[in-house]
Amino acid sequence: MSGKLASLYLHFPFCETKCHYCDFYSIGRERTADGDAPLFEAALRREIELVGQMGPRLAPVLNTIFMGGGTPSMTPPDSMRRALEPLWKFTSVTPETEWTMEANPSSVDERRLSEYRSLGVNRVSMGVQAMRDDLLLRLGRVHSRNKALEALDAIFASGITNVSVDLLCGVPGQSVEDVERAMEELTRFPITHLSCYLLTLPKTHKMHRDLPSEDGQLEHLLAIDRFMRSKGFEHYEISNFAKRSPDRDYRARHNLAYWKREGYLGLGPSAHAFDPARGAHGSRWKNFSSLHKYAETLKKGALPVEWTEELDAEAARLEDWMLALRLDEGFPADWLGTAAQRQKALRLQEDGILEPHPGAPGRLRLTARGFAVSDQVIATLA
Ligand code: SF4
Repeated sequence: MSGKLASLYLHFPFCETKCHYCDFYSIGRERTADGDAPLFEAALRREIELVGQMGPRLAPVLNTIFMGGGTPSMTPPDSMRRALEPLWKFTSVTPETEWTMEANPSSVDERRLSEYRSLGVNRVSMGVQAMRDDLLLRLGRVHSRNKALEALDAIFASGITNVSVDLLCGVPGQSVEDVERAMEELTRFPITHLSCYLLTLPKTHKMHRDLPSEDGQLEHLLAIDRFMRSKGFEHYEISNFAKRSPDRDYRARHNLAYWKREGYLGLGPSAHAFDPARGAHGSRWKNFSSLHKYAETLKKGALPVEWTEELDAEAARLEDWMLALRLDEGFPADWLGTAAQRQKALRLQEDGILEPHPGAPGRLRLTARGFAVSDQVIATLA
């Protein structure tokens, strides 16, 4: 399997401004120098060429591409096309490839989206986060509620029909009704997927003390689960909901590859990669989280890898638990190998945290309430 990574993540580091809660590697416009965009384009080209020469190699046809960041929709389509050119010497896409681009409402319009579409993008994941202007301001977002609605109109007008939106819940000052209203407005569009993340902040963050209590957070999460199910979305992962029918499955294939421990290559500053066939239990590695260090390393002809980690049996076992509990598919009951584990699992079922999978005999999964406390369940069961 080594050398046959079928999923590709590309990290675009630029953002309009740095949101107050963000811990991804990204550079706001105010900290971006004139030469940074061409520097990134040339460096990404060089990284792709180097990877093509020295591996690990990508599969001849990609299953998924995910362009994240940062805000990829700030990179002009022409620059993106030039940066990706060397890729097509050693891999390819077909109409079946899921090619997602993250976008922000403030940096998309119909013409630009059509150009990304002609490049091969067939899925957009848009960061809406909230639908109340004062909450957006508080989060440091640069768009308004109206701008988000206009951006959704533009996406569908461009002919892209596989559309996901990101929301945040547990934001200081946000009520359950706010989240419900936001979902109501967003599901009036024919979106196929919604991700709703609970806002988490380090204790040192100035907004940390205003976060809702654990009970308040649980209330948000349960309300989201109820609402999205009532609109026909499947709650297939802790924070993710998708339309799904026998003919079409809109679960995010790229993220499913992460959650099922399949291999993926990551390119661009701060990108992660995983090869399950490297070493006894798989290997992970990560690029430098600095545009300049990333570009300088590539200029010297080396891959910009900051660290590599070979997983041992215990790390791989814990990952299996963590990933299985994220998904609605759950885990096989025979993973509960000891009497103590089986006892704990029974207690979790009595508490409404764990349940037998209704569609898959012999498997157990977390309930909606269990999704909200999955970290504690992993610590109990694994
Ligand atoms: S737009 Fe996204 S990546 Fe950029 S700063 Fe905001 S949250 Fe971070």
